[in-house]
Amino acid sequence: MRSIAVMNQKGGVGKTTTSVNLAAGLARQGKRVCLLDLDPQAHASLHLGVELPANAPTIYDTFLSERSLQQIRRLVGPQLWLAPASIDLAAAELELADTQGRELILRQALDDLFAVEPYDYVIMDCPPSLGVLTVNALSAAREVFIPLQPHFLALHGLSKLLETTALVTRRLNRDLRVSGIVLCMYETNTRLAADVAGDLQTFLSSSDPEAPWANGQIFTSRIRRNIKLAEAPSFGKSIFDYAARCPGADDYLSLVQEVIAMEQVGELPLARAA
Ligand code: ADP
Ligand code: MG
Repeated sequence: MRSIAVMNQKGGVGKTTTSVNLAAGLARQGKRVCLLDLDPQAHASLHLGVELPANAPTIYDTFLSERSLQQIRRLVGPQLWLAPASIDLAAAELELADTQGRELILRQALDDLFAVEPYDYVIMDCPPSLGVLTVNALSAAREVFIPLQPHFLALHGLSKLLETTALVTRRLNRDLRVSGIVLCMYETNTRLAADVAGDLQTFLSSSDPEAPWANGQIFTSRIRRNIKLAEAPSFGKSIFDYAARCPGADDYLSLVQEVIAMEQVGELPLARAA
């Protein structure tokens, strides 16, 4: 079982697109996948065509009213489950302010879920902040994937994000590792994109070997800018269901295969201890 938080506190970098298409792609490869929508904007839920009636239980209820993930997750495709979000989740941060152990609610909920239902992958689509929802994802996950857009400000803000993972590693989840960086909206024909990727690799390989990102890799699959990826959400479909033959589908399929190949990498302790 692998649990992966897809995280970056910047908006618009490709977190949701990556979470949804990675989850859908893994499911198409025969993996049992549960996608958790942790963003109050509920973009991942909408991307998979889930529109909920007003009083339907969502992940907000897992955080605030002890609904189990099993009660809220729904089947959205073969082998693919989604724990949906709703706008209520925007209030969770404040509502949890006085709750003891609020950083570990999701971890407990996932442990309870795994006790009754096995999954090969849990993918968490994080909101664009480093607040309590993201900290919950980092406490519950074993791995972090960071999508980023390789432009000249890409590395700006990365140190804050990495500090947060280091803090969570020290205080809440010592098994957490930043295992992959996904370059999204990649411009194949610019030097800048290649330069940013190079700088990033240099930064990773020169890091303190004890840092949670020290063994992180930049995925060789680059997600090119492709209009089909931007269109698919409005049809409530993953890229594989919306346009199976387009550069966006090719790139995400290649990422899926790379992610599956990491399962074989012996030195990465990927399976989270039960
Ligand atoms: P985040 O979740 O980090 O805010 P999104 O995944 O929602 O980012 O992406 C932001 C916007 O860019 C969305 O409208 C999405 O459809 C679009 N988008 C994401 N990746 C690509 C891509 N590779 N090519 C074209 N558009 C993309
Ligand atoms: Mg998003």
